[in-house]
Amino acid sequence: QVPLKPGRSLMDWIRLTKSGKDLTGLKGRLIEVTEDELAKHNKKEDCWICIRGFVYNVTPYMEYHPGGEDELMKAAGSDGTDLFDQVHRWVNYESMLKECLVGRMAVKPIAAPKEISSTLSEEKKQLNGMLPEKKVLGASAKGLTPSYDWFQTDSLITVVIYTKQKDVNAELVIVDCQDKQLRGEIIMDDHSYLVEVDLDHAVQEDLAVNIAEKVGKVEIILKKKDNIHWKMLGRPLESHNTLIKRTGRGLFYRKCKLVSKTEVTHDTKLFCLMLPKSTHLSVPTGQHVYLKQIIAGTEVVKPYTPVLPFLPLDFKEPSCHGGAHVYLMIKIYSCGLFTQALDHLQIGDYISVSSPEGNFKKSQVQTSEDLFLLAAGTGFTPMVKLLNFALTEVSCLRTVKLIFFNKTEDDILWRSQLEQLALKDERFEVQFVLSQPTKDWVGKHGKISSSLLCEFVKRSRKDSKVLICICGPTPFTEQGVQYLKDLGYSQEEIHAFSA
Ligand code: FAD
Ligand code: NAD
Repeated sequence: QVPLKPGRSLMDWIRLTKSGKDLTGLKGRLIEVTEDELAKHNKKEDCWICIRGFVYNVTPYMEYHPGGEDELMKAAGSDGTDLFDQVHRWVNYESMLKECLVGRMAVKPIAAPKEISSTLSEEKKQLNGMLPEKKVLGASAKGLTPSYDWFQTDSLITVVIYTKQKDVNAELVIVDCQDKQLRGEIIMDDHSYLVEVDLDHAVQEDLAVNIAEKVGKVEIILKKKDNIHWKMLGRPLESHNTLIKRTGRGLFYRKCKLVSKTEVTHDTKLFCLMLPKSTHLSVPTGQHVYLKQIIAGTEVVKPYTPVLPFLPLDFKEPSCHGGAHVYLMIKIYSCGLFTQALDHLQIGDYISVSSPEGNFKKSQVQTSEDLFLLAAGTGFTPMVKLLNFALTEVSCLRTVKLIFFNKTEDDILWRSQLEQLALKDERFEVQFVLSQPTKDWVGKHGKISSSLLCEFVKRSRKDSKVLICICGPTPFTEQGVQYLKDLGYSQEEIHAFSA
């Protein structure tokens, strides 16, 4: 992120897009753009970018881009899809840039691969049995491609996914069923397998998911609304029965009900959202979700990291079957576009929540002996599940230290819970550092520094295996990572949380 000039916030951009100004210079016309034409618009004062086949004139957006003009210019006059997917595929550019749309790329005729198109149409006709592996598009490894099947009783429909992978756990299975559309996603490392069908008949709201972890079999059990015999499972949707890179899937959202909102500090609240009964989802440790709201007619999306409702040692997450909850600890900024809108949500209102994302792997902690957590402000949020996981499930851990940077004492999130945890578990230690303390603060003060880290991040044994996790404002995280590297910690020993 770069500092934007005054008058160039997201809200200012939304206002400009609503002003009726001609932002493309084409007076509302949409054109077909050739590669040669696209390449001509490669300057700051005349910049077109193609994303997923659509071309946008981003010249007026330059000064509003949170990542800065130079980042945007990297894709000037070319296809920026990959770059966009790497940096922020969660941003709804279609909504954000709709007034900048120039048109579509002119399509070069390419012969459709015969096998795929014929198998697809065949599948569209039937969809009532297990498909041969070759029908799965984009499979990464032969023989390891999942397949599915389905069967029925008088009252139930069971969809079975054979992942052909061991150790499939609940966090890797995301199921939604909305308006007769069933979507079952299996996360397989950086790939995602999807079953996506418009069901033949209506089903009841609640569904069940059974996972046979050792054999990698996942059963999705749906209750028929009417006890009739189904001739087929349903009509396959666009991404049905595909195994592709996770980054290639659009984010999927479901509407969740706000069930409570409690104060954590003067400006931070704990939001409890209830997942629909027809959703099976649990957010893995270290991952975040995206929330989506329509603000002034534009879809705005921001990431948030789910926490637990509280921090006792023996906390067990409730079952992720119907009625599961997602807890979010969110700081409300007085001039924040998204958080102000969030704060105005009433109990009972709905908000869209995406499936989880993030590149943190629990296995990084599982082999550690010393875990150091460096958090600043709401950068504390990923540390909550991490702390719980480390202290309850990682037996080789000897020390877990949290150093928590805040402006003032009043800003410290869950201070007494953390202090109690430190009393309860002798492996855990917490230290608070304030950047704007009052005179009577006797603890540490200042910002992140090499000397502070040198003192705090010390191996319990000469060769002990260390993991250091860091999260907070971008400059905090960047400085922290640099100091740690200067102190001799390797890239593998550091995990920086980011979007
Ligand atoms: P904006 O309208 O964007 O800005 C309002 C004010 O806040 C401005 O003064 C601006 O300078 C300042 N501001 C905005 N964004 C930031 C920022 N990122 N850092 C410092 N100052 C900023 N926030 C939480 O409260 N809880 C979470 O669990 C959480 N998880 C996150 C997970 C990830 C992966 C990332 C990248 C961010 C997370 N955030 C979290 C931050 C969150 O996504 C928003 O950036 C934040 O809520 C501000 O949104 P806004 O639209 O209200 O503010
Ligand atoms: P804040 O402004 O209250 O600052 C908290 C502390 O961070 C300060 O006391 C200071 O010690 C440190 N700090 C702030 N700015 C700094 C700078 N420029 N250089 C060095 N240290 C600095 O923090 P906040 O408003 O709670 O913001 C929390 C941040 O954490 C946000 O930027 C949010 O996006 C980020 N966050 C990221 C993730 C993630 O990536 N997974 C998750 C949660 C929060």
